[in-house]
Amino acid sequence: MNLVRKKILIIEDEPDIVRGLRDSLEFEGFEVMSAGEGREGVRLAREKGPDCVVLDLMLPDVNGYVACEEIRGFNAVVPIIMLTARSQEADKIRGLEVGADDYMTKPFSIGELIARVKAIFRRLNRLSVQEELLRIGNCEVNIKKHTLTKGRKAHPLTFYEVELLKLLHERAEQPVSRDEILDKIWGIQAYPTNRTVDNFIVKLRRKVEDDHKQPKHILTVYGYGYKLAP
Ligand code: CA
Repeated sequence: MNLVRKKILIIEDEPDIVRGLRDSLEFEGFEVMSAGEGREGVRLAREKGPDCVVLDLMLPDVNGYVACEEIRGFNAVVPIIMLTARSQEADKIRGLEVGADDYMTKPFSIGELIARVKAIFRRLNRLSVQEELLRIGNCEVNIKKHTLTKGRKAHPLTFYEVELLKLLHERAEQPVSRDEILDKIWGIQAYPTNRTVDNFIVKLRRKVEDDHKQPKHILTVYGYGYKLAP
């Protein structure tokens, strides 16, 4: 157990949910701060440097998508779990596009959310002892800095993008199934859909490939998953 307590920022306007999350997370040894509005949440994210953000989609001032984009504007790496009352695929995809790493549909179990938060920190701990650089084509991925450098351009990578690249790289030239990716990266079998993996792959291809429509490195294995050709 780390001596320094991990800080979780909850951005959510429903007091009952905040109270439930706060009690449970504090019981688990996390330090918890919360904001009931999006702008206040973004300010706390900037000033307090949380280790993880739980962000509600429907907020009284700015919505969760806007807050997420603003947070990503100054922090590319903090894991963001989005809470949504809706279950439409479009909302989830949009959430991932603006930089959320994970999402949960309300009503959710607090135990499940805590399990995901803990899984994130377990992976972060593992990450800190691993080698720092991966090479893919003419790109260099810095695992610790969460950046992908291609030519002179450095792109920020989110936590799950780094994890996905690492997994594919460890298994280079071998097909990795979508189910295995979901299981290993998100750590939960019941994670909503394989489309999540596909959406992350699309984003990664835009960063890695010269032509993302004709990928040469992150290859589709039809009906199965993906394969990395570094
Ligand atoms: Ca709300």
